[in-house]
Amino acid sequence: MSRLAQTHGLTDVQQEILSTVRDFVDKEIIPVATELEHRDEYPQRIVDGLKELGLFGLMIPEEYGGLGESLLTYALCVEEIARGWMSVSGIINTHFIVAYMLKQHGTQEQKDYFLPKMALGEIRGAFSMSEPGLGSDVSAITSKAVRDGDEYVLNGQKMWLTNGGTSTLVAVLVRSDEGHPEGTAPHKSMTTFLVEKEPGFGEVRPGLTIPGKIDKMGYKGVDTTELIMDGLRIPADRVLGGATGRGFYQMMDGVEVGRVNVAARGCGVAQRAFELGVSYAQQRHTFGKPIAQHQAIQFKLAEMATKVEAAHAMMVNAARKKDSGQRNDLEAGMAKYLASEYCKEVVEDAFRIHGGYGFSKEYEIERLYREAPMLLIGEGTAEIQKMIIGRRLLEEYRFQG
Ligand SMILES: Cc1cc2nc3c(=O)[nH]c(=O)nc-3n(C[C@H](O)[C@H](O)[C@H](O)COP(=O)(O)OP(=O)(O)OC[C@H]3O[C@@H](n4cnc5c(N)ncnc54)[C@H](O)[C@@H]3O)c2cc1C
Repeated sequence: MSRLAQTHGLTDVQQEILSTVRDFVDKEIIPVATELEHRDEYPQRIVDGLKELGLFGLMIPEEYGGLGESLLTYALCVEEIARGWMSVSGIINTHFIVAYMLKQHGTQEQKDYFLPKMALGEIRGAFSMSEPGLGSDVSAITSKAVRDGDEYVLNGQKMWLTNGGTSTLVAVLVRSDEGHPEGTAPHKSMTTFLVEKEPGFGEVRPGLTIPGKIDKMGYKGVDTTELIMDGLRIPADRVLGGATGRGFYQMMDGVEVGRVNVAARGCGVAQRAFELGVSYAQQRHTFGKPIAQHQAIQFKLAEMATKVEAAHAMMVNAARKKDSGQRNDLEAGMAKYLASEYCKEVVEDAFRIHGGYGFSKEYEIERLYREAPMLLIGEGTAEIQKMIIGRRLLEEYRFQG
């Protein structure tokens, strides 16, 4: 166990799960991550291992075959996995968000049908809000669903689906006019559809095409895709929760727990960067001594470790708040913002400690350097987090004069 990022007050079960995951990360992920990442190869063996550990069902209630664990347990597992390879945490993250949305908002039939298969990892989830013309401004969504008898017909283009190719269930947010007259606020005329599909690329269901993988600077291995709906017919019983017009709120609920998850990823990547930096600093000599003995490098290590601790504490606080049944948008926004910014800074410091070798693909820090920026963007950019935080602060600290 590392000295940093300890979490107090965990149950025996939580400790056992975490120690199993940490062991898996050290033995099965870290030794192969960089090689697979350079080849942009999907980590099938790792995914199979995660399935065996039950991680796809970690937060799914026991009655549906999951482990029924808390958001905190989940976030701590994600932190460990991201320490090994951030892309692997991306593979389970969208699955987790869709399962969470089903658990919170699904009809009984939808829960009974999807959750047991999701717990086993047989059905794998992706979620889709972003479009080519929008990401931050979700209310501007243009994809549309129109009712036709017992079905809806969906048209439009989606962008940036993590696990778009490998998933078999996509929660897709579209605009739906039915029952929502002209002039209805945009966020009240959106609906989440549960779209089942074959895995892979091309036409994966009549009217639904996943064109191929987007070539990215980092976050490789996990597939990120577009999704094109052209007359896609979805039965009315696949509207999440059974009623149109609630999609925006359902998705925002999902993204809120997703933010804790992204914060946890930032914590994990930063921890790994610290481990790499502190190790290299004791091996590399300049001017007759290990660089760790130069005060400038020690200061860097001190700053890095402090950031790792602070981000971890905020992430844990945000998860615990949600687990206690309270609203946590302020804490989740703060944790996501701080952890992703600190992650980028800690990774950059570790990169600098490596000198020229940090630029070589032989060193793990090169991969982390390309991965960290994704966390500044995913589940809402820093600016969007600050908008959420600012609005909430003004609610809490309303001027009484
Ligand atoms: C690798 C990857 C995976 C992703 N996976 C998914 C996924 O699975 N599902 C999904 O739906 N989406 C996914 N996304 C999309 C992601 O959520 C969006 O990229 C993100 O929300 C930002 O949207 P955008 O790219 O359209 O940027 P824009 O919204 O165009 O923003 C551009 C810039 O303007 C700033 N900005 C925007 N509005 C404001 C404002 N009001 N005030 C101040 N600044 C502002 C932003 O902060 C940003 O710096 C993924 C993205 C990436 C890169």
